[in-house]
Order: sequence, then structure tokens, then C-alpha cells
Amino acid sequence: MTLRGAAAAISPEPEHGSGPVATADDVISFADLKDWERQLASTGTCEHPVKLHGRITAIDRATGEIAPVYDTSDEPGGVLHVACGNRRETRCPSCSQVYKRDARQLVRAGLTGGKGVPETVAAHPCVFATFTAPSFGPVHARRMRGKTVLPCRPRRDSKDRRCPHGRDISCPTRHAEGDPRLGRPMCLDCFDYEAAVLFNLHAADLWRRFVTYLPRHLARLAGVTGKTLKAELRIRYVKVAEYQARGVIHFHAVIRLDANTKEGFTAPPARYDAGLLCDAIALAAKAVRITVPGSGPDIRLGFGRELDRRPVWRQPFAATGQALDAAAVANYIAKYVTKAVDVPGLPDTRIRHASEIEALRCPAHHKRMVAVAWDLGARASIGDPRLRLWAHQLGFGGHPLTKSRRYSVTFGYIRGERVTARRLERNPEGERDPWGRPLDDRVVLVLANWSYAGTGYTPRTPAAELALASADMARAR
Ligand SMILES: [Zn+2]
Ligand SMILES: [Zn+2]
Ligand SMILES: [Zn+2]
Repeated sequence: MTLRGAAAAISPEPEHGSGPVATADDVISFADLKDWERQLASTGTCEHPVKLHGRITAIDRATGEIAPVYDTSDEPGGVLHVACGNRRETRCPSCSQVYKRDARQLVRAGLTGGKGVPETVAAHPCVFATFTAPSFGPVHARRMRGKTVLPCRPRRDSKDRRCPHGRDISCPTRHAEGDPRLGRPMCLDCFDYEAAVLFNLHAADLWRRFVTYLPRHLARLAGVTGKTLKAELRIRYVKVAEYQARGVIHFHAVIRLDANTKEGFTAPPARYDAGLLCDAIALAAKAVRITVPGSGPDIRLGFGRELDRRPVWRQPFAATGQALDAAAVANYIAKYVTKAVDVPGLPDTRIRHASEIEALRCPAHHKRMVAVAWDLGARASIGDPRLRLWAHQLGFGGHPLTKSRRYSVTFGYIRGERVTARRLERNPEGERDPWGRPLDDRVVLVLANWSYAGTGYTPRTPAAELALASADMARAR
């Protein structure tokens, strides 16, 4: 039962067969409720918590004396609930919120400091860039000039209107945001599905090449040798992958220049400024090319030029008057880390049989991408097993967020900080061992022994249902 289902379970007129149901005769003890609220606070009201049986024991290293610290048999239901930690919004709303918050902090720390990163980092040259795929065929798009929405694909002359398949590929509509037609091809036969799927498959490789090329272009523009650049400069980045409406991946990246010092987070020599970085990004992105086998001739993959409509290359943060707001950028990037492909009707898990594709109830465009990925995956000449593994993700299987090691801090660091803060909240004077001494690893050995006891919340006592329902309502607010 979902958390939302829990609210139904305690309502006076429960649905039949919706699991254990509290009746008016059930008495909920306040202590029981408090116990549950404490557990929920620690799992962050996770949708599918992992249940653990076990205990923690302390051993005095000097005397060998053993003392219990914690035992799950003291918990309501006799188990400890641990958050599932899934970052997907569709899998666990509450855990994905936590992940999103962590991502935002991680990105923000690299822009303006914090979490152990000095605030002076805000003065380093830094660029927010978007790397799109090239066109794979005409699609409906929301085109903008300033704040005006332009017609999608205006009719020019009659020659221009029809595609080689005889279809009208003009569209005078000024599409509104969220128009379901956005991203759909004007003609499915004109859309190069194979190239689009292979682009997704190799998007991460394209990015890796870009990262390799960028220093060369920076060095050339700065008029220094590659060796000098390496000695003076470090390039740090965080990037996130987003599916465009047409089902093709594009990347948003924050790219920052630091000096090459042991301490890290020192401003680079003045010759490397944001303007230079912008130019080098454009050149390096343009130079990235990968040739991959297709079902016909080899396919050349690269980033799209995107020179016309979206001036995404030149948006330095600190260097110019029109600096982007760091908080806005952090929010923007964090928005995508919890999302997989956002298409109704596409499955959350991998496809195991071709018949599943036929049964998909998603737009024809995305269905075709899935089918092409599946079919390409079976071709010996292409021979990439990832195509089938990632068919339900339209060919892309990379992590939504990647970063260079010293961009800011790690997710682990941010999680650790949260755990420490929670401990401190519980024991403001610091933790003590069972003998009443301040906790010290050198004095006491702490042993934990856990075993897996399933997932979900148990037992569904009335107190548990009530606590779940109120947590769910709190989240909805
Ligand atoms: Zn969860
Ligand atoms: Zn259109
Ligand atoms: Zn056509």
C-alpha cells in the first residue's frame, strides 16, 4: 500500500480489500504514535523503506565487557525502517526530494562556496553551458524571439511545405508551453531515429571527448602551451543530463576554472577569464565527433551547433553585468537529477521482450525510439548490449549528474553532514557509550549486526497508519 493509500485506510469508509483497516474500536496509544513519528522522521517518510532486524553492541576494549546499545526488538513492529534512497521521483517522492536538495547544495557550493568550499570560488571564471544534439528531422518546437513565441515552422513556398514522403511539414502554430505536440516529428519517416538513439547511447562519450578537448582550446586561445596550462589550471565541472521533448539528451553544465594548487579552490591566473572559457567551450564542443556503425553507412555523431536561437554559450556568472543567479542555476540543475525520461507510458524498468514494446501506451514517436534501440541492440555489426538494456530510456543510460572530483563536495559528504547534524540534535552533549563515557573508538568497539527483513512499513497498526497519513499530508502541503 502506498502512503496515500494509508490515508484511505484510516478514513471512516475504507475501500474493501485495501489492506489492514483501522476501525473505530481501535485505540491508538499516544506513545505508539510518537514511536512511529520518530521512525518516519528518520526515513524521511520514504515510500518503500528497507526493513532491518538487528542490534548494535558495544565492547569495552580493555575489559572485554559487552553491553547492548540498540536492538530493533525495541522498535514498534520489531524492525528498523531505513529510507530506500532512490533518487527517482516516480519511485520514491520523499527520497528523491532529499536527493534533489543534496544536488542543489552540491552545485551551489561550487558556485558560491559553502560546505567547506571557500566563498572566494564565486570570483573564479565560470560558465553555464547547454550542449544540445543536432537536428534529426523537423519537430514541433516552441521558438522564441525575446518574449514573443514565433510560429513553429512557417510556410514559405509550396516546395518547402512537403517532405520527400509527401507530408505537409509546415506548422504555423505558436506553440504554448506544455503543448503535447512539442518535440514530435512533423513526419516520422523523416526523423532519423537511428542517429537519435545512437546519439543518446553515446552522449556520455561525446561529453568525455569534450572534456579532453577543452584544455587544448583554452591553451590555444590563451597563447600558452598545453604543458603550461596543465601546470597552471584545473577545469572543474558539474553536468546534468536532461531529455528534450523530442526524447534526445542534452547536457547543462557549470564549468569553472581554478588554479592548479594543492589546496584547491584558488583563483586561476588572470589570463584565463570567463570570455576565454566561453570561446573555448564553443570550439571544443564543435570539434567533438564520433563515428559509430549504423545499420547502413557509419553515423557521425556530434553536438548540435545551436548558434541560432539559444545563445547558451555566453553566460558568464561573475565576469559580466548580466551574471546568472547562482541559486537559480543550482535549482535548474537539481530539477533534472530526479527525473528519468518524462514520457507517460514509458516503463520505469528495462524491457525484456519485444512484445512489451508493442504493448507500450506511449506516443508513437517514443515507441519508435524504443523499438529502434531494441532492434539495433540485436545487430551484430553494432553489437552494443547497452542498447537493449537502455531501450526504455531511449538509448541513454548515463547517470543524470556527473562532476569532476573537485567541483565542490560529494553526495557522501552532504549525507554525512546531515547524519551528524541529526545525531547532534538528538544528543546535544555528544554521544556516550553504555558506560556513560563520551564515545571513543579507541576505548569501545561498536559492533552492528543487521539482517534484511523485507521492504515497506510493518506492521500496519492504526498508529502506523495515522503517522503515515499525517506525514503524507505534511508532504503534500
Ligand atoms: Zn525512499
Ligand atoms: Zn508545430
Ligand atoms: Zn517525410
